[in-house]
Order: sequence, then structure tokens, then C-alpha cells
Amino acid sequence: MIVIDGRKTSVDLKNELKADIEHCRVATGKIPGLAMVLVGDNPSSQVYVRNKAKTCKEIGIGAKVIEMPDETPQEKLLEVVAGLNLDPDINGILVQQPLPSHIDEFTTTLAIDPSKDVDGFHPENLGQLLLGRLDNCFVSCTPFGILELLTRYGIETTGKHCVVVGRSDIVGKPMANLMLRKDDAANCTVTVCHSLTRELPFFTRHADILIVAIGNAGFITSDMVKPGAVVIDVGNNRIEDHDAKSGFRVVGDVDFRSVSAVASAMTPVPGGVGPMTIAMLMKNTVLSFKRMNALQGP
Ligand code: NDP
Repeated sequence: MIVIDGRKTSVDLKNELKADIEHCRVATGKIPGLAMVLVGDNPSSQVYVRNKAKTCKEIGIGAKVIEMPDETPQEKLLEVVAGLNLDPDINGILVQQPLPSHIDEFTTTLAIDPSKDVDGFHPENLGQLLLGRLDNCFVSCTPFGILELLTRYGIETTGKHCVVVGRSDIVGKPMANLMLRKDDAANCTVTVCHSLTRELPFFTRHADILIVAIGNAGFITSDMVKPGAVVIDVGNNRIEDHDAKSGFRVVGDVDFRSVSAVASAMTPVPGGVGPMTIAMLMKNTVLSFKRMNALQGP
């Protein structure tokens, strides 16, 4: 069984981006800039934004973190986003979710210039993805990272049956559309399952490539997986662990121990899909910089 190592792949990717950013700097005298807006004091969001800013610094992207209090009115947030849309030093804008309950997330997403929407959440980017026009859009970082892993590990996709479990707007739906594209790195027959799917194991057992994003610790067991399948585990669930110093540990949606005995390749949790998500955010920011400066390259 091949362990698809997202940690190592993300390090490789970040090193490649670092070299690419240096080329960009030499060619234009500028560096890519990513703005991150954090509203409120959600501790997880603070950690995510801090980690993203740290990664920016490591590879040479300029990070601008804008912290706003929890009681920030929606209009004020939209004003800040409008300013970032016009800022020539900013190539990517990210408004960290979840937002406080009085702020509408969709309205905020709509306010971001699609050409700076490096999270790939704007309907325009989702629409372009649906049309298979990846050259014209930003793809949501988690599914984009999974595609990168499949490609770098040489996983054959054409004609395969890909089953995506989970239909969220940021993981399941974009993932299914990526795998459906008419492209050598896709060309799958795609089935999407969700919480109301009847006979879920029937579908998962017919998957050549099984991608699980449901948020339910260890839900997929070996009896639900076809022998030889490639299994991608997006889940990121905290479970109690009295032996751990923190009192918890992070596990996926797939029971790694039993499923690794039947799968041909699989991502672990932690160290699989997770590290790729931030790396792909960096990739999207560099991509945006290149598009805005009419530079060649992927
Ligand atoms: P959401 O909660 O938005 O969506 C979950 C989806 O799973 C829904 O479509 C839901 O169905 C479906 N679902 C829930 N339970 C079942 C079940 N028992 N059987 C079949 N389908 C089910 O989650 P996200 O997509 O945002 O995230 C999914 C998981 O991935 C979470 O653990 C999250 O933490 C993780 N994640 C990890 C990331 C990373 O970088 N590693 C990034 C993003 C997410 P329905 O629509 O019917 O409710």
C-alpha cells in the first residue's frame, strides 16, 4: 500500500513556489501579496491565519493580516474588501470563515474580486470550474490539493469511477467537478454521495478512487472499500485521547488501520490532504500574481 504523503508533497511544492516567486521578483521587481481578513477572536481561525501568514513568509509572499473586532458591521467588512480589491500590491484576498453570525458569508464572498479570490469560493470561479476552464479560475484549495496529490503520485484517473462522499461547496462539489473534467488528470465517472444517500456502502464499494469529506471520525471501514482502491481522506476530526498531552488527537473520516489493508494507495490523517491545503493557497496566490503581471507559467 502506498501512503500518499501530503506533508512531503507540500514541502516540495512550497520549495518550487519559493523559486518561482524569486523569478517573479527578478522579472517584475515585485512579490505576490496575500491579504487575510480575520473578524472576531475565534481561536481556530486565529491559528489558521497565523499559519498561513507564516507560510507566506517562508516562501516569499507578502502577507497582510487585517484583524477586525467581533462586532464589526457587515458594511465595514465590505469596505475593507473593496479597498483590497483595488490595492495593486494585493493578488489574493481571503476572508477567514466562519464569520460572526451577524455577517453574511455569501455576501462577503460576492464582494471579493473573482480575480483575487484565491480561496476559489466566488460563484464566478465555481462556474468556470464547472466549465472545466481551470486556466481562467481559482479552484478551492482542498480539492485542488487532492488533484495535485493524485497527479504527483501518478494515479490513473481516466475512465475510473470516482466516488466523492460529501457535497459541501468548498470540498465535495468542487472535487466532483474537478474529477469530471475532460482532461488526462481527470476523465472520471463521478458519483457524489451525502448523508441522505441510501446504501452508501454499495457506492463506496464500487469506487476506484474514493474521496471522503464528511467530518465523521473513522466512518469508512474496510468492508466499504473495494480492494485496490485509492482512498483520499479529507476528514479532520478531533477525538479524545487521554495519552496525548493535549487530551485529543486528530483522525480522518476513514479508519486508516483497516482500510490500509485493502487500499492500493491512501492519504493518512494527519499528513495527507491537510498540509496540501495551505500549499495550494500559496500556489493560487502566485498564479494570481502571474496573471496580473502577464507572466508565463502554470
Ligand atoms: P460539511 O459539514 O460542510 O459537509 C459534510 C458533507 O458530508 C455534507 O455534504 C453531508 O451531507 C455529508 N455527510 C455527513 N455525514 C455523512 C454520512 N454519514 N454519510 C454520507 N455523507 C455524510 O464539511 P466540509 O466539506 O467542510 O468538511 C468535511 C470534512 O473535511 C471535515 O472533517 C473537515 O474538517 C474536513 N476538511 C479538511 C480540510 C483540510 O484541509 N484537511 C479542509 C476542509 C475540510 P449533507 O449535505 O446531506 O448534510
